[in-house]
Amino acid sequence: MVLNGTTRTVFPGSASHPRSRPEAPEPDASQAILRKPRSDPEPSITSPPITFPFSAIVGQDEMRRALMIAAVDPSVGGVLVFGDRGTGKSTAIRGLAALLPPMKAVIGCPYSCDPAKPAGECPHCATHASSRKSHLAPVPVVDLPLGATEDRVVGALDLERALTRGEKAFEPGLLARANRGFLYIDEVNLLDDHLVDLLLDVAASGINTVEREGLSIRHPAKFVLVGSGNPEEGELRPQLLDRFGLAVEVTTPTDLPTRIDVVRRRDAYERDPAGFCARYAKADRALQKRLTAARARLPGLDMPDATLEAAARLCLALGTDGLRGELTLMRTARALAAYEGADTVGIDHLRQVAPSALRHRLRRNPLDESGSTARVARAVAEVLGS
Ligand SMILES: [Zn+2]
Repeated sequence: MVLNGTTRTVFPGSASHPRSRPEAPEPDASQAILRKPRSDPEPSITSPPITFPFSAIVGQDEMRRALMIAAVDPSVGGVLVFGDRGTGKSTAIRGLAALLPPMKAVIGCPYSCDPAKPAGECPHCATHASSRKSHLAPVPVVDLPLGATEDRVVGALDLERALTRGEKAFEPGLLARANRGFLYIDEVNLLDDHLVDLLLDVAASGINTVEREGLSIRHPAKFVLVGSGNPEEGELRPQLLDRFGLAVEVTTPTDLPTRIDVVRRRDAYERDPAGFCARYAKADRALQKRLTAARARLPGLDMPDATLEAAARLCLALGTDGLRGELTLMRTARALAAYEGADTVGIDHLRQVAPSALRHRLRRNPLDESGSTARVARAVAEVLGS
């Protein structure tokens, strides 16, 4: 079929199986979750594949913190990771997702809805209200390949059903699969602007709307968008850049002990993944507990006027456009405070997250990372003190 022609090689998990159940897309191969047939009422979970443990990642503190903040409060918006290849961006996202507690998901729902929440915008759950049995599923991480067509991303008319049975049915796309998880785009700066725009819209609203070929579908698509790219290989338009919540930089470590540590751990993991993961299981569990506690703490966290005012003064000093900078800065600082178990959001939280929340919102040379990072640091020192 033309629809999945370009993705066959990229998504072996979905391409290697015949499309016998087009309304329930096969999960990502890397997640290795076996959904039992719908008639089977027993919840099922298989062991997820062995992922490099998040807690075993050396360095890259800013990236790890940004991803954790996005996991605590997805409303901070997506995370843009700029930097060299081979700096563990994809490893970090997979590691973080694997560390999150498995989620309860409605069996048979292509959007993996939470059985405890009302069906809302879900066309499946709205029509199957009586059978919302659930199973445990790992938090999804969906890769969006550069060659993906818009149909593959947002979903499209199920041609097979249309041709063989004359029915108009919706074939959910990658956005459906990413619901409640992460959508990862490597080299986002090489992706068509139109597609990036669309992804940011869906990420912000949490709803995917598809109107085409006589179909009119809305379905939940709440996910953390993580894009990575090397600015030397193509720029993102500033209008798109500033719609990402956080922007972080990753670099290949330059100090000798860190480099040795990175290589040693990678080697140990590849030689014995299970043994390596066992050594970090305790640290990963501690992180998971902290994340869960932070999520529970977030709604009750106080944002004092003085912190809000400081955030506004910082954005004014930097000349960021609009109010998106302040909003993101506030939400990010609050998520960090929740993660740290603080009772209130303080100036120090702002100080810590200001580079990630603001460096991509400066007017001149938004992709000159070192320049914008230094400018944010200067403004932080001037406005918030050191
Ligand atoms: Zn649903």
